[in-house]
Amino acid sequence: MSAVLTERDGRGPAPPQVKPCGECSLCCKILRINVLEKPAGAWCHHFAKGSGCSIHSTAPGECRKFQCYWSIADALGEEWRPDRSKLLIWSNVPGRIIVDVDPSHPNAWRHEPFLSQLRAWANRDVPAPMEVLVRIKDRMLVIFPEGEVDLGPQQTECSISSGYHVANGRKIPYAQFVEARA
Ligand code: SF4
Ligand code: SF4
Repeated sequence: MSAVLTERDGRGPAPPQVKPCGECSLCCKILRINVLEKPAGAWCHHFAKGSGCSIHSTAPGECRKFQCYWSIADALGEEWRPDRSKLLIWSNVPGRIIVDVDPSHPNAWRHEPFLSQLRAWANRDVPAPMEVLVRIKDRMLVIFPEGEVDLGPQQTECSISSGYHVANGRKIPYAQFVEARA
């Protein structure tokens, strides 16, 4: 995947959008928007089916600057459009892909062609390895080509450390929450 990473905190410039959102509005459901006190996984109360955002011109920067990978990556076909795949793919940190799963379809990430592609992106034996996180509401999983490590409920005050350790000549994936540095 060669998409430009974006931020959803309103500070970074929006990358060029290469595909229109069309009927998709899944980010208005999946993302937590702190300034609106909108929880993750629940439709924003400013959203109306058919007409979209009712406060478009004054929507917070978190909304206006947000672009999912599908909208900026030529490589992702129509089957990846978030309202079809039920997967919202984005990032806020270089070297990390976040896959937020529509909580109404919690197993969508296990479907093909999605799971195979997530595992391919998770290959750490490449010049620019990516940490691939799947989040289902607050449950976090770290994806590896060999499988996934289920971290359970997200610990928002912590960051994630993941990689491999070697035991008896075998590489074994690990992932854990770690205290965030001050
Ligand atoms: S999830 Fe992506 S494609 Fe869908 S509305 Fe949001 S930015 Fe557009
Ligand atoms: S304010 Fe508008 S753009 Fe932002 S989440 Fe709500 S409906 Fe979507």
